[in-house]
Amino acid sequence: IERGELLIYLQPQFSLKTGLLLGAEALVRWQHPQQGMVMPAMFISLAEESGLIVALGEWVQHAACAQWAAWDVAGLSPGVLSINVSGVEFRRGQIQGMVRNVLDVTHLSPALLELEITEGAIMSQVENSVQVLHDLREMGINLAIDDFGTGYSSLAYLKRLPLDKLKVDQSFVRGLPGDAEDCAIVHAVIALGHSLQLKVIAEGVETEKQRQFLVDAGCDEMQGYLRGRPMPVADFRREFLSN
Ligand code: C2E
Ligand code: MG
Ligand code: MG
Repeated sequence: IERGELLIYLQPQFSLKTGLLLGAEALVRWQHPQQGMVMPAMFISLAEESGLIVALGEWVQHAACAQWAAWDVAGLSPGVLSINVSGVEFRRGQIQGMVRNVLDVTHLSPALLELEITEGAIMSQVENSVQVLHDLREMGINLAIDDFGTGYSSLAYLKRLPLDKLKVDQSFVRGLPGDAEDCAIVHAVIALGHSLQLKVIAEGVETEKQRQFLVDAGCDEMQGYLRGRPMPVADFRREFLSN
């Protein structure tokens, strides 16, 4: 963080109904001078153990929101920016203040920001989660559950959480359309989400067959290598934002 070696990558998200761009997810990278590009799987859990995830998360929010606000002001209609929030940040209970500060400093409209919190992080301390999510929702921010289907959701709580979106975990998308269990799970998650008035996005969509299955199943949105890998900010600007 001090040496300025972190980077934001952006991965586009699309409507499955219209095929149009809806926004992007910010994914952090560490450009290490000796080791090259280090992926988040190598350092996020260490950052969580050491507590550095709070500073890292704050850096990601400031950098990504500042870029997004600039594109919005320039009339490029970038859609909604999704940012991952670690369970550690979420549990510390300071996330509301941090996000409020980021929105103040960057002048990003809260309607253009979505926070992704993993199912595990929400459900491991669900009473507190209800309050934190309500605070964030009151600020006008969108809320999504990441990696849905991997975290032992309590359905009784799910209906009380002020959410906008379920993100079907990529482990279930991988088996589509050949694996009967994955097909059944994805159908069930879409039905559950829609019955709770939530949008459903599938992550890790790599093939046309997977995309077609999701369209037929009524899934709302997709993200995956099929339509765009995570890429540097300048590439995203060039490839997906016109004029
Ligand atoms: P995630 O939030 O579930 O992000 C999705 C991951 O799937 C990303 O990995 C993305 O590059 C990858 N992915 C996207 N499309 C495809 C596809 O079609 N096929 C396959 N096989 N993979 C795909 P990435 O960038 O390595 O990030 C891994 C995880 O690290 C993220 O999972 C998220 O939990 C965490 N992470 C990334 N950036 C941040 C951050 O700024 N803050 C926090 N707290 N966590 C982050
Ligand atoms: Mg995510
Ligand atoms: Mg995920």
